[in-house]
Amino acid sequence: MTVIGLGAMGKALAGAFLDNGHPTTVWNRTAGRGGELTARGATEAATAAEAIAASPVVVVCVLDYDAVREVLGAPGPSGLEDVLDTPGTPDDSRTPDTLGTFDGGSRTPGTLEAPDGSRTPGTPGPLDGSRAVSGLLAGRTLVNLTNGTPRQARELARWASERGADYLDGGIMAVPPMIGTPGSLVLCSGSPEAFTAHEGTLSALGAVDYLGEDAGRAALYDIALLSAMYGMFGGFLQAVALTGSERIPATEFTPLVVAWLNAMLTSLPAMAKAYDANDHSATASNLGMQAKGFVNLLETGRDQGVRTELLEPMGALLDRGVAANRGGDDLSALIDLLRTNPARG
Ligand code: NDP
Repeated sequence: MTVIGLGAMGKALAGAFLDNGHPTTVWNRTAGRGGELTARGATEAATAAEAIAASPVVVVCVLDYDAVREVLGAPGPSGLEDVLDTPGTPDDSRTPDTLGTFDGGSRTPGTLEAPDGSRTPGTPGPLDGSRAVSGLLAGRTLVNLTNGTPRQARELARWASERGADYLDGGIMAVPPMIGTPGSLVLCSGSPEAFTAHEGTLSALGAVDYLGEDAGRAALYDIALLSAMYGMFGGFLQAVALTGSERIPATEFTPLVVAWLNAMLTSLPAMAKAYDANDHSATASNLGMQAKGFVNLLETGRDQGVRTELLEPMGALLDRGVAANRGGDDLSALIDLLRTNPARG
């Protein structure tokens, strides 16, 4: 097993593989981040190419897809790098002055990237040859656990497949301390063969839920879950700002928030059923009533000196629901109003 990226999450992933007895090679752009892992038995590669060459399964968990593309030498969203990265193009056929496009500017233009063991700990070093890296992927499984969009996942899956790699994309529904515990969930999609072959290894990270062959599906679920999560966090921030405006300690008020949100969570399955059936008529709390009451959330914010920017979009959506003659319906009727394309997928 290879883990590329030793931020908070990458370290946790590598630690879980080690805990489960998987020989693990690690690499990070900035040298010197693998110390604790090497003390636990990991091998720290000097270059990304060396790390990839070390294992049939390569897990990448870096900040974002720009970072993934830099590490792997994959084309950027503009596709400009495609010109430089046509499969089968020999490394030395590129114009040296253009090589810097792969490495975030860390190399001197005109300098060929060479595996470089001379990085100073704590300082991002030059990436070690994106071309060399992408050429090493053939026959391996690339498991990308970096947060991204479905489109980014599908593009990277296509690119990896063109290079002979099996691709799995994953969304980690856990924070680093949860990795390897029963509370951790990794959503996964992409190559069914790769999933069958490596499910056992990946289960070191927690529960692994395979969502099918479409590499973008795990990212879609991940982003949808994060959207729900940020709705909740935004609501909590607003609630504590309101009570805090009268010096009520957050610790005193928060147990009520937790109990209230838990009670409200029980209504989600019924809303989901209404959405699937496209029948929003069964409701004890119609939209029209909620739109009226919501005005008080905005007014209280203004009275208490608390900004209402988190609430205003929801108020506007409720008003749109009423204007669309859905005032007698359940809140679930608003889901279709969020679509920019009115047709359901
Ligand atoms: P950190 O900020 O702790 O670490 C970021 C990592 O990305 C570092 O290893 C960093 O290397 C690397 N990196 C950044 N830019 C580049 C680049 N251009 N080239 C190469 N490497 C780069 O983030 P996390 O580890 O917490 O997060 C990693 C991924 O996991 C993210 O996509 C995040 O959304 C996801 N995630 C994180 C969770 C969390 O709670 N932490 C929860 C669920 C998912 P360097 O050390 O050199 O800067």
